[in-house]
Amino acid sequence: MAGKNKQHLRGLEQELRFLTEIGADFIFAPDQRDKAKPDQRAAVGESAAGLTAPADAGRKPDKEKQRILQALEKRILRCTLCPLSQGRTRAVPGEGDYSAALMFVGEGPGADEDIQGRPFVGRAGQLLTRIIAAMNTRRQDVYITNVVKCRPPQNRTPVREEIEKCRPYLLEQIECIAPRVIVSLGKVATDSFRPSAAGMSSLRGNFVEFGNTLVMPTFHPSYLVRNEGNKEIKKLVWQDMQKVMEALGRK
Ligand code: URA
Repeated sequence: MAGKNKQHLRGLEQELRFLTEIGADFIFAPDQRDKAKPDQRAAVGESAAGLTAPADAGRKPDKEKQRILQALEKRILRCTLCPLSQGRTRAVPGEGDYSAALMFVGEGPGADEDIQGRPFVGRAGQLLTRIIAAMNTRRQDVYITNVVKCRPPQNRTPVREEIEKCRPYLLEQIECIAPRVIVSLGKVATDSFRPSAAGMSSLRGNFVEFGNTLVMPTFHPSYLVRNEGNKEIKKLVWQDMQKVMEALGRK
């Protein structure tokens, strides 16, 4: 029992260190916890960026969404539209709440995701899960997916043909889930919404509009993992997530 308690305390210590590093340790304050639970579907006002995440008019009823998205997942699991299908163990359609107000879009599955058939479950995924938790949100309450649904060999960047063949799946997911905000993780995901020659350092932190949805570009969690000692990058990502929370009326 004492051993279990120690382990638990060590986990809490690590979490607090992470939150302190990104400047999010305030979430332990009780008043902030209460504030961070408004109705997720509430209409929101002006965000820090002067942009408003659209409210929920025109959303599909949940049963209908479930039917469409589950059929889509089945199609993705069987997809052979591009050569990535030949090298995969499993396709990774995405997972989470079909009615999520917040969606995260990454680049493509890595080795762990390819084996498990779930997005963001490796090291970068664990970091993403902690970032979501720091936003006072449960992972199962957001939707997480990727630009390409099958792992590129040796985790190389997906090429244009692969991205284009997979694009209708991503667009259908976005249309059906109709999130109010999408966080695009890294350059490949960010370019899927607003292609540009600019790098992530200048793109991150600034909302762009994609149809009815606000897209917040930020650094990919793998970049954070690769630069683990760099607290500045974590802080920048946390600043971006604060803008996201504000746009959703959760701050
Ligand atoms: N990197 C991604 O872009 N997506 C994943 O699912 C995992 C790692």
